[in-house]
Amino acid sequence: MIAGDRCTRACGFCAVSTAKPLALEADEPGRVAEATRRMGLKHVVITAVARDDLADGGADHFRRTIEAVRAANSGIVIEVLTPDFLDRDEAIETVLAGQPQIFNHNLETVRRLTPSVRSRATYDRSLSVLGKVKAKRGQGIYTKSGLMLGLGETEPELVTAMEDLRRANCDILTLGQYLQPTLKHLPVVEFVSPDRFADYKAVAQQLGFVHVASGPMVRSSYHADEFHLPLPMPV
Ligand code: SF4
Repeated sequence: MIAGDRCTRACGFCAVSTAKPLALEADEPGRVAEATRRMGLKHVVITAVARDDLADGGADHFRRTIEAVRAANSGIVIEVLTPDFLDRDEAIETVLAGQPQIFNHNLETVRRLTPSVRSRATYDRSLSVLGKVKAKRGQGIYTKSGLMLGLGETEPELVTAMEDLRRANCDILTLGQYLQPTLKHLPVVEFVSPDRFADYKAVAQQLGFVHVASGPMVRSSYHADEFHLPLPMPV
């Protein structure tokens, strides 16, 4: 996770601290690159807090980190998990300029629950971000999103969210059980059974997602390297 450990938002499910962020560290991309090189990673997921305090939302810091990691690790697959950048085209373009092979932005929950679960984010803005990435890069990138289950969503609402993601041409889906990080965070409304996760995976596959990870322990980056379809190579 880059760009600090202080987020400008305060989502009800997330344990990251909300506080005034510190300035970006110019040498962070190089340090991340060195860490990935020493670990010998073949697939890396680069994420960040939401930096609404910055004009570009931290997009250029993403780009610099992607480029530094690629320069230090030939052949590495780079996946980004980004905030919504307030749906600004320039910020999305800036991240895409780094040529990540997978662009993940989580929808997190169904439309009805979004205002009570996510801070400052909107359901339609997140769908727009994903749609724009695909529209700008087409087959040159895979888009990915994730939903947490157990927050009180109904099955029809969940299926609608999956359909909305497919309408935004989202390729990859993760479905996982929400767990309450502290007593101050949103409560778990329901523990979804492994069988229902399996059923939802089948629904998602029928809707056309090319890869679906669905299960109680699944998170955005869960076994991300098990995605084996041919990945676009950066030029
Ligand atoms: S924007 Fe992301 S990092 Fe910030 S509180 Fe929400 S989920 Fe956590």
